[in-house]
Amino acid sequence: MIITKAITVTPGTQKSLALRDIHEPVPKKKELLLRVKEVGICGTDIDIVSGFYGEPPAGSEYLVLGHESLARVEEAGPGCDGFRKGDLVVPTVRRNCPENCLSCRSGESDMCTTGHYKEHGIKGLHGFASELAVTDSRFVTTLPESLSEVGVLLEPLTIVEKGISQSFVMQNSRMKWRPESALVLGSGPVGLLATAALRLMGLSVTTVARKPPGSVKAKLAASTGADYVDVTETPLSSMEDRFDLVFEATGSTSVALEAQNLCGTNGVVSFVGIYKSEVETEDAGRVFTNLVLGNRVFFGSVNANISYFHRGAKDLVRIRNKWKGFLEGMLTDKVSLDEAESAYGPKSEKTVKTVLQISQD
Ligand SMILES: [Zn+2]
Ligand SMILES: [Zn+2]
Repeated sequence: MIITKAITVTPGTQKSLALRDIHEPVPKKKELLLRVKEVGICGTDIDIVSGFYGEPPAGSEYLVLGHESLARVEEAGPGCDGFRKGDLVVPTVRRNCPENCLSCRSGESDMCTTGHYKEHGIKGLHGFASELAVTDSRFVTTLPESLSEVGVLLEPLTIVEKGISQSFVMQNSRMKWRPESALVLGSGPVGLLATAALRLMGLSVTTVARKPPGSVKAKLAASTGADYVDVTETPLSSMEDRFDLVFEATGSTSVALEAQNLCGTNGVVSFVGIYKSEVETEDAGRVFTNLVLGNRVFFGSVNANISYFHRGAKDLVRIRNKWKGFLEGMLTDKVSLDEAESAYGPKSEKTVKTVLQISQD
């Protein structure tokens, strides 16, 4: 039996992060064996490591981490049409529920209604933070070689692609809509990718965060031609501009409440954070009255199906061509599997995205 190294946790248990030798996974029909190049780390991973959630596959006491990945096909067996050994690929995170609900059977497992879906590295399926991994080939997108250094950013970009594309679908189906301005709240990886994606569409973008203008994140946002505003200097409540599209990616409840005030008439607000319950900080009557009087749409969006991965792969190429060094500049911290523990620890102000480098080729 061949052994492969993997970063694992025992879900629900604090400080259970471990580099473990596991048996090489064996692909079933329609599954690809992947040699993982890189795995990105985000807040979801930190929450799992902290024991807040995560669920191991049935019959396993541990969960292999890693849902943001970039890999090469190691073996494409029966039923894996269209894939060849060496292809650069990114799998989606979520898999259909066993009931195969209307959403799941329509290729939209991101909209699953039963809640019984599985997610690689999060819920009921091992993730990709291992030298070798398997996944269903029907949920895998192929990337051009030009993305071999930055393709690990595709999964976070798909969160952006879904939020923006659903904003346009809703708005264009209810009226004539020509958005000119967008507000992005947050300068983490999702906020920065939203800034770039909205700039690609030709919108005038303002990105706000609690970082000084000289910080790495602020400079990256500004490099796309977005206006950057440090909210510790200019509070959101003092902003006079109103925006056609607001993308809330801070995950802060108080910021999310402010965000809806900054949405203009006929505008749309896309929320993609996980918000903690907090004491009420806003007059709910005012929130709903603003919503009605401005014909505004507020909606939430989680996960992304394969269509957003295909779309994101194209945008990743366009972003890379348009703003040289932007995507590379987001990948600030690269860590080997052996040093993985530090990757899940506290971060410096300069960190944008931490990536585990698993195989070099
Ligand atoms: Zn993530
Ligand atoms: Zn479902």
